Amino acid sequence: MMSEFDLIRRYFTRATPSADLGIGDDCALLTVTPGHQLAVSTDMLVSGRHFFADVDAYRLGHKALAVNLSDMAAMGARPRWFTLSLSLPAVQPDWLERFAAGLFALAEQHAVELVGGDTTAGPLNLCLQIMGEVPRGQALTRAGARAGDDVWLSGAVGGAALALAALQGRVAMQSEPLIQCRARLEVPAPRVALGLALRGVASAAIDVSDGLLADLGHVLAGSGVGARLQWPSVPRAPALEALDDAHLARRCALAGGDDYELCFTAPPSQRERIAEISAQLALPLSRIGAVTGEPGLVVTDAQGVAMQLDHRGFDHFA
Ligand code: ADP
Ligand code: MG
Repeated sequence: MMSEFDLIRRYFTRATPSADLGIGDDCALLTVTPGHQLAVSTDMLVSGRHFFADVDAYRLGHKALAVNLSDMAAMGARPRWFTLSLSLPAVQPDWLERFAAGLFALAEQHAVELVGGDTTAGPLNLCLQIMGEVPRGQALTRAGARAGDDVWLSGAVGGAALALAALQGRVAMQSEPLIQCRARLEVPAPRVALGLALRGVASAAIDVSDGLLADLGHVLAGSGVGARLQWPSVPRAPALEALDDAHLARRCALAGGDDYELCFTAPPSQRERIAEISAQLALPLSRIGAVTGEPGLVVTDAQGVAMQLDHRGFDHFA
């Protein structure tokens, strides 16, 4: 039987050159780059709620870190360190190996290091805390959007929510589009490079984790403004176009969570710069609307007419 300490050593202890002291003592010791602020975020993933209990462990390791990296991206912070608190029903070497492989593959891609955590027996539950750095005063908060700014969205939305609907048996999908959408749900690509490129360009930013309307709504509330969105301009997963059910397609794109794209605002003077960033990163960036002085979020159709929508984002307690 493997002890807790063997488990930590075997699966989760790697070199941590970016830390003064990593795993193994009572605390990790970290030095923040002078002139920078420490950006800290925590995300909990609960089995049966945030992921299916039988999801591939490699993908779960990837996603647990990806959602935390996405918060760094949305803040314009450079991710540096993270901790992992794990509650596990049993020690299953295969599962742990795959989980750690998915986790560390993404960690290496983004040069973030695991510097500590906690391990207990219990229902499957993961809690990661991520720490990053941003030059003082340059973070992309939710409070900076101004009337007249453009509203932008990276990539395309709705694919993850469509995969979830299919996996829950609420919609039938062909296998090829399902594979693509399922990758959006299970192995999302956090937009870290975009977040860094948007420092000094975007006025506010958020990552789309609970649904575009809900998350943009947080920016509008944080900034004390409103917005008009053009539904035809909202880039959506190709699989949504193939759906017969237009209501479901709209719901996935506007209220579906888990895409981890960035929604941000920027003054029109930044349009050229944003086009350059899009080209550099080979990532589509679409202008989907405009910030207004009056509060409220209005979505218009191809004729410019306000649409009646009942789509709310995901809320665990709603
Ligand atoms: P303590 O009892 O002092 O909290 P622990 O025995 O919980 O220490 O942990 C020992 C060391 O292993 C600590 O440095 C802790 O940060 C690290 N650690 C524990 N669990 C994990 C984990 N799942 N991933 C990474 N590091 C971990
Ligand atoms: Mg402990």
